[in-house]
Order: sequence, then structure tokens, then C-alpha cells
Amino acid sequence: MFERPRGTNDWGPEEMAKRRFVESRFIQLAESFGFREVSTPAFESLDLFTAKSGPGIVKELYAFKDQGGRDLALRPEFTASILRFYVSSLRSRPKPLKLYTSGNAFRYEEPQRGRYREFSQLNAEIIGGAALPSDAEALALAIGTMRAIGLKQVKARIGNIGILRSYLPFPPADQGVVLHSLDKRNFPMLEAELARLGRRDLASPLRKVIELSGDASVLDDAAKILGAAAKEGLAYLRDLAGLLDDYGIRRSDYAFDMGVVRGLDYYTGMVFEIDSPNLGAEKQVGGGGAYRLAEVFGGEAVAQTGFALGLDRLVMSAEAERTIEPPRPLDAYVVPVGDGSRKKAIQILTSLRAAGLGADIDLIGRGPSKNLDYANAISARFVVILGERELKQGRATLREMANGVQREIAIEDLVDAVRDA
Ligand code: AMP
Repeated sequence: MFERPRGTNDWGPEEMAKRRFVESRFIQLAESFGFREVSTPAFESLDLFTAKSGPGIVKELYAFKDQGGRDLALRPEFTASILRFYVSSLRSRPKPLKLYTSGNAFRYEEPQRGRYREFSQLNAEIIGGAALPSDAEALALAIGTMRAIGLKQVKARIGNIGILRSYLPFPPADQGVVLHSLDKRNFPMLEAELARLGRRDLASPLRKVIELSGDASVLDDAAKILGAAAKEGLAYLRDLAGLLDDYGIRRSDYAFDMGVVRGLDYYTGMVFEIDSPNLGAEKQVGGGGAYRLAEVFGGEAVAQTGFALGLDRLVMSAEAERTIEPPRPLDAYVVPVGDGSRKKAIQILTSLRAAGLGADIDLIGRGPSKNLDYANAISARFVVILGERELKQGRATLREMANGVQREIAIEDLVDAVRDA
């Protein structure tokens, strides 16, 4: 007996149906927004991720050498791969580029409920649009996906890391360390860094401002604490809220939250996280924002914004709120009775399938009553029983499993009878 590796999952048919339900709602909505699907490799050069996130990322990765001695890593997310793809091959396409992808990602995490070493993300990126409308569009897709899944408990927290950046009078690398300590709510580290930079006085306003979360009044409070440096960034968030109104996104679906920092260096402007409050500790189902990565990978400066939603957590959340629609049951299970009817049974099976119906056939040669038990167990809607005597008259028995009602029917009417029931 082998066990699967720690932090990975096997997903059975029922679970896969739920995952596909959630994924397909995202894909439908993304397509309706004009996003188009891309796919990138599950592993990349290790330096793609260190260029994006610094050498510290390696301990969070599945990094390895291949047999040619190349340093590679399984992707921990999609943005780096998509921006690599953009810079190397998609740069000359008409802008904006709106791309989505869905797949598995890998991180060397301490596994717990909702946190795995292999997990799945739904990802969308907008490259080369103007910042404000692109940010609004990305948020509308992220929040809209939650709604399309049927989730009622949606809470996005929207901040603007540009506000903190313009408040911090340091070069980007030092800003990065301060932002990282704020992201981790590591206040000893914050104090130490600010002391090193000779600006201890900033600790108190920074600690106050990251506590601000709520409706638009939060923006006024932030202005009072941060002063003129925050003016532009706060006005941006007001304008963003106006656009979200136009998209029909309810004000109760999001809060302004000055504490959304997302410590990674490449975020530049609007940043957001989405929680599903019914999930407990691992309640964060997604996050994203405006960033600058194309430049890091050798491309020219264009606005980039995007997000990732965690599929595993969205499914847990949809289960908790009971929004998942059951998969379509098998329409018909075909039972040949006696060897003489198998040939005709396969023809009927094929015509049901050709009509777009879900149809299956007995593969074991069981008797009719065992076959009915099986059809019941797999929740087939109908059973088509083909006895040799009926077949001679061009007829079959159609049994509706929900009520056990059976009738004889001409074979040429079978497809319509199953389809129209
Ligand atoms: P991040 O790229 O860290 O912002 O992650 C985006 C989303 O992916 C998170 O909000 C989670 O829903 C999901 N996610 C990240 N890491 C994991 C993990 N280890 N297991 C399950 N879901 C994850």
C-alpha cells in the first residue's frame, strides 16, 4: 500500500464534480468578461520565482535539479509564469491582454484544513490597460466569481499599497522591509527597521493606519493620520469605489482596509484580499492587486493587475453555504437481456450518446434485477431493458427510476422519450 505525499489530495468523483462546478462558474464569467485562457508549465526555472520574490522564496517552493543539472521549481502561483509568457511571446498583442488560467500550484507549506502542498488556483491578469478601469474590472471578476458560485458571504478588503509607499520616505528596498513587517504584523521588526532608518516616529501612525477597515469613512481617517502623502492614493480608492458602484457591486461586498499590505515587493497600487467568513482560520479565498512584474522580467512598463482565487477554499465555502448544484445524472442505463440483444443494445447506446445524452451499458453481463440495483446506485434517470422478445417487435422497456414506472416503447422513440422526460 502506498500513501499519497503529505499535503496532497485525491479527489473522488463527487468532489471533482464540486470542483468543476466552481471552476466552470469562474471560466464562464471570465469568458463573458472577455478574458481568454492560457496555460503555462507546471515547473519553471527557479530564478523566475527568485527574480519575482527574492531568494527567501526558495524555502517555500518545491525546488529541484533535473537530470541535466538545471535548477527548477514547481509553480507556487501563476502570475510569474504568465508575465514571463507575456514578455517572451505576447508583448506585441493588442492591449489590454486579459488572460485567465486554472490549475494546480505547489508550496512547501505546513498542511492543515484548507492549506495544502498541492492546491488549485483560478487566476486572471489584465496587462496593458489603464490602471483604474483595469483594477475595477479585475475586482468585478473576482467578486463576481464568488457571486456566480452562489456565495452570499463575500467580503473583499481593498487597500492601496501606493499610499504606504508614498508615505515611506525610503528607497524601494527599505520600503520593502517595512512593508513586509507590516504585512506580517511583526511590530518588533517594524520598530527595529524604522530605528535603523532613523524614522522611529513613523511606527505609531503606521500601526494606526493598518488597523483602519470599514466603509469610505476609513479613507478620511487615513487622510488624517498620513496627511498629504496619502492624498492621491486615497482619491484613487474613492474613484475605484465609484466604478464598483457602476458594476453593481454592493458596498456591503467589500471594505476599505488600509492593512492589506501583501508584502511582496512587486505590488504597486490597489491591493485586495477576499475572505469567505464561513471558513475559519483559512478564510482567505483570494487576493490580488496592481503590480509591476513585466519590467522585472525584461519587458517595458505597462499597467498590470490580477488576482488568484483558491479553488480548494472556494469549494469548501460553497459546500458550507450549500450552493453547489449536483452534477447531471446519467440519463440512461442500457441493459441487454441475453447475448442476442447486445448488438442492438450497443446501437441504442450509441444513438443516445450521439443525441448528447449521458448513456451507459452493462459491462458485466449481470441479470436484470442486479442491473436495476446498479442503475439505482449510480442514480441513472432511466433504464432501457432490451429483451430478445421485445427486440423482435422493435420495442424496448423504459423504466423511470424515480418512480419505478415501466412502459414498452418503440426503439425509434427512445431518444426522444429520454430527452423530453
Ligand atoms: P496567494 O497567491 O498567496 O495570494 O494565494 C491566493 C489564494 O490561493 C489564497 O487566498 C488561497 O485561497 C489560495 N491558496 C494559497 N496557498 C494555498 C494553499 N497552500 N492551500 C490551499 N489554498 C491556497
